Amino acid sequence: MDQTGVRYDARTEMEAKPSSRAGVERVARMEVIKGIPVSQGIVIGRVFVLDSDARNIGRHHIQREHIDQELQRLDAAIRRSREELAGVFKDAESMMGEEAAKVFLFHRGMLEDKSLIGPIRAMIMSEAVGAEHAVSHVLGEWADRFGRMSDLAFRSKVNDLEDLQERILTHLTGERRCQLAQVPAGTVVVARDLTPTQTTSFDRSRVLAFATDLGGKTSHTAIVARALGIPSVVGCQSLTRLATDNSTIIVDGDRGVVVLDPSEEALDDYRAAIKKRQLARVTVPDDARLPALTLDKVEIRVLGNIEFPDEIPSLLEQGGEGVGLYRTEFLYLTSVKEPTEADHYNAYARCVSLLAGRPLVIRTVDLGADKYTQERADVPERNPFLGLRSIRYCLRSIPMFKTQLRAILRASAHGPIKIMFPLITTTNELRHARLVVHDVMEDLDEEGIPFDRSLKIGMMVEVPAAALMADTFAREVDFFSIGTNDLIQYTLAVDRTNERVAAMYNPLNPAVLRLIRDTIRAGRRHDVDVSLCGEAGGDPETALLLMGMGLRTLSVTASSVAPLKRLIRGVSMTQCERLARKAFSFDSDVQVAAYLRDRARKIVPEAFDGRSVDDADPGAGTDPA
Ligand code: PEP
Ligand code: MG
Repeated sequence: MDQTGVRYDARTEMEAKPSSRAGVERVARMEVIKGIPVSQGIVIGRVFVLDSDARNIGRHHIQREHIDQELQRLDAAIRRSREELAGVFKDAESMMGEEAAKVFLFHRGMLEDKSLIGPIRAMIMSEAVGAEHAVSHVLGEWADRFGRMSDLAFRSKVNDLEDLQERILTHLTGERRCQLAQVPAGTVVVARDLTPTQTTSFDRSRVLAFATDLGGKTSHTAIVARALGIPSVVGCQSLTRLATDNSTIIVDGDRGVVVLDPSEEALDDYRAAIKKRQLARVTVPDDARLPALTLDKVEIRVLGNIEFPDEIPSLLEQGGEGVGLYRTEFLYLTSVKEPTEADHYNAYARCVSLLAGRPLVIRTVDLGADKYTQERADVPERNPFLGLRSIRYCLRSIPMFKTQLRAILRASAHGPIKIMFPLITTTNELRHARLVVHDVMEDLDEEGIPFDRSLKIGMMVEVPAAALMADTFAREVDFFSIGTNDLIQYTLAVDRTNERVAAMYNPLNPAVLRLIRDTIRAGRRHDVDVSLCGEAGGDPETALLLMGMGLRTLSVTASSVAPLKRLIRGVSMTQCERLARKAFSFDSDVQVAAYLRDRARKIVPEAFDGRSVDDADPGAGTDPA
């Protein structure tokens, strides 16, 4: 038993008692899968497997009594594909002539070919797998077979098979996405991966939690899950292959564990843990509104990161002293059309009014990488995190950028707003972005529209190039905000969304720490405010180190604000500075993590009550718990 009263068996698989579901008696095998915890909370629910990516279909099993239903889904998808191909043929014929358009008739013919479709049906029936998997497996095998043939006529059919597969899968997964809107209450979504947009679109009255095969702790999907308070575990590797629709699942977002087909004993343990959590939950900690003063009276400002204006009331309740990062791209991600100036303005004016005089740092749109709109998803990039994302995208889309800047400036007439540019890498980018702001200011002046003329402009330091050149940048901005989520991935060449390298994604790597320290020092030399808004700031041990390195403002997820402020009130700055000096004497993240874990528990043991040394997971990055 651990301190929450939950028994965790490290074995990945064990026998469980027989379970009876939907009238079918079968022996369930409990599976305990360890993933990466990204959003806290424990949930017991029913599985809904969402194969949302037509190109990446997991082998998920269905219950035998659902086989007929699955065959009907397949038939419907084939019927719709045939109808669609009839239309495609007509269009192609009028554009390219009958001969060239014939390929689509050939595709239609394949859909009527029993030797192609028959094995798909057979696989669903004999192996009780989802239609998506059967389609991709059978057609994929045909494509492989054709690809290996010496006859060019056969080899050239590979593309046709792939095209056909994509078409059927699109119909199957599209229909599955529609079904998601009607899932019953108590559903847990299991998916290979989820986009931030999909995560924001869950109906919270029905979807209790999610778990995915892929993903990392600071991916934007994880950040959204935390913001919305959806318990979740990512990086569960083969979960979609193991999970069966409608079966029972436990998602333990506190410890990053997913249990499939839990035994009665495991269910009892988790029910007890849920009860304990409910009893222990204090919605608003008494001390949340107290300032974050260290024992030796150094004040740390604790601000919040938000994706939606609606998060502000709970952020303030938790003791947040303002918003240090507003990720405005979520305006795009939650809307089917591009937001208008009015949409932007309404969102910012609402933030200003909710914050009632507290600071608001609005980060200009940071689209791209793992945050994309449908339009951008249609132009895939080979390395999206190194591609046309963020400020680079805005500087190539000036009308869109100006729309947002106009709205920000207009809202600045009503309260203290700062503008922050993401992913600044070169001075040219910064100067270009500033010029656009000045253009917009001139336009507003000409139109007689008021705005804050002394509005501060800053940049995120989240690319190593920016940290290395911080002295130069400091001459041209009013503030820096260190974005460790990206800074870690770009410094260490570790994709923040890839569970396979999650153990290497570590804010305590000495290279990352040096870049942070150098940025803080450059800020000090030039009298430029430096804050930090990456997830690392919410981790108690890392926060002590960052304070010791000189940071006086941290912007974190709302749920981390109150615990962080309490932690700060329990330490002295002298202790933090000593801790930081020592941490810089180590040359590996493992040593830094081990030292911090030990020292932090000695300096402020009460902050780590319930977090045993074993719970600390330095390799998996930060834990905002
Ligand atoms: C960061 O990179 O640390 C950051 C705060 O920005 P985002 O997580 O939105 O990329
Ligand atoms: Mg970033």
